[in-house]
Amino acid sequence: MSGRNRKIIHVDMDAFFTSVEQRDHPHLRGRPVVVGGSPKSRGVVAAASYEARRFGIRSAMASSQAARLCPGAIFVTPNFDRYVEVSHQIREIFATVTSLVEPLSLDEAYLDVTENFLSEPLARNIARYLKQRIREETGLTASAGVGPNKFIAKVASDFRKPDGLVVIPPEKVLDFVEKLPVEKLWGVGPATTARLHELGLRKAGDIRNFGQEALVRTLGSSGEFLYGLSIGEDSREVDPSSDPKSCGSETTFETDILSISELTETIRSLSEHVAAELGKIGRPAKSVTLKVRYDDFTTITRSQTLKRHTDQEETIARTASELLLRKTEAGQRPIRLLGVAASGLLSPDEPIQLWFEISPFSDD
Ligand SMILES: [Mg+2]
Repeated sequence: MSGRNRKIIHVDMDAFFTSVEQRDHPHLRGRPVVVGGSPKSRGVVAAASYEARRFGIRSAMASSQAARLCPGAIFVTPNFDRYVEVSHQIREIFATVTSLVEPLSLDEAYLDVTENFLSEPLARNIARYLKQRIREETGLTASAGVGPNKFIAKVASDFRKPDGLVVIPPEKVLDFVEKLPVEKLWGVGPATTARLHELGLRKAGDIRNFGQEALVRTLGSSGEFLYGLSIGEDSREVDPSSDPKSCGSETTFETDILSISELTETIRSLSEHVAAELGKIGRPAKSVTLKVRYDDFTTITRSQTLKRHTDQEETIARTASELLLRKTEAGQRPIRLLGVAASGLLSPDEPIQLWFEISPFSDD
């Protein structure tokens, strides 16, 4: 196995938002709790307690659907300032172990503990220590995964939730990844999954057998990274300064598009991706940018600053569509590419403001 082996821990709070609510409101304990929008509105589920998940309720699902799946579910409006407060507590605990901490969202982070302030050689012991301190100081449980790289650590933390601790030492990595479904590999979304399935590749082990060269020939340069993952290799560093400035999604049409309704339909689906991504990282955005490439490859971007932060698909799509209609030549010139991006992301370290709409924050 090539590449340096690090000792990486991925820590992920269990059903974070709903666990905070159940901690703070004892009458919610043991009950199916949904944090998110009211089922009577067009709201979505931000997070579901384990009791609610048993009914099939998942984050980003329409609240009305959640209510149908579980009529007894208790809907709670998100209390983000409380979640951010707990998030700060957790980060302070992480900071006692290493300065190489890369937060992924309010409730998730990578820690590189190859060298650490505790001078503890066993990452397993550090993970135990972190879980214990989190429990003592916040009253909440976290799951941790330990591995030689970020990919393995993240898959491991998800393996035995809630309150799990899964350690994958370097010599167990190949066995561990072999049976993983391809969609568990980092960066493999629905489109790539479908492509891999077409090739008859369903497990990471299938990709390995398919071979790196064949994969690169079929998928292009991304095949190389993907092959690496299929054998449990991942050279991405834990980056404490990693701080996304924007979230974007774009698409190139197979044939250039004139139809306004087709373009706005595309904006809607791009906005859905952007909103989901903002939700995943727990960072609402303050401005929306539309990117348009005409048939002659001229590319323009048009931006709009919002009155307040949002991570709502509706708001993003509406703003991008207005930009399309008012600030571009859509409908007159054929368009070959459309992109929607959200920027000015609210930082977890900024003082929290009362901007909250009901948000599709994911919380797995
Ligand atoms: Mg979580």
